[in-house]
Amino acid sequence: MESKSDKLIIFDLDETLIHANGAELGYPAHFMFDAYYVYERPGVRSFLSDIARHFTIGIWSSASDDYVAEIVDHIMPATIEPLVVWGRSKCTMKRDYEYDTYYYEKRLDKLKKKGFRLEQILIVDDSPEKARTNYGNAVYIKEFTGDGNDKELQFLFNYLLTFKTTANVRTVEKRGWRNFSS
Ligand SMILES: [Mg+2]
Repeated sequence: MESKSDKLIIFDLDETLIHANGAELGYPAHFMFDAYYVYERPGVRSFLSDIARHFTIGIWSSASDDYVAEIVDHIMPATIEPLVVWGRSKCTMKRDYEYDTYYYEKRLDKLKKKGFRLEQILIVDDSPEKARTNYGNAVYIKEFTGDGNDKELQFLFNYLLTFKTTANVRTVEKRGWRNFSS
């Protein structure tokens, strides 16, 4: 068995691992949640299986806790036990004074109680503002809105593997990660 990294990777849900749409797109949805057609990002189940062999993983979304639990039930392979499956109740509501709006932030220091320091945590998210306080931990992924030919998770897998033995993930420049070649 290959050795597991001491790093934790937190994944967002909406537009990162799945896309939930009020109407059916040009092809059948993978499953329904209430009145929503839920589309899985291509390869998401094998991606989660493969990445969980190398890292501890968790899910954190700013959607409602019920929604998060149910979506994760659907897409997470049964053999994987994520460290956390967190929804909106674990987010921190922040005010954007410039635009006078509110947004939900994922404060990664909340994971310290689970045994992971900020130097050990990566967050994969399509929304940069969701991890504003923890900019150095974020890998920004192209948003998924149902494109059946999307290949982002393949690129992402190879890139994430480079962090297995990194001492401090925060000091690594992550912009332009998609151009990384293994
Ligand atoms: Mg998202």
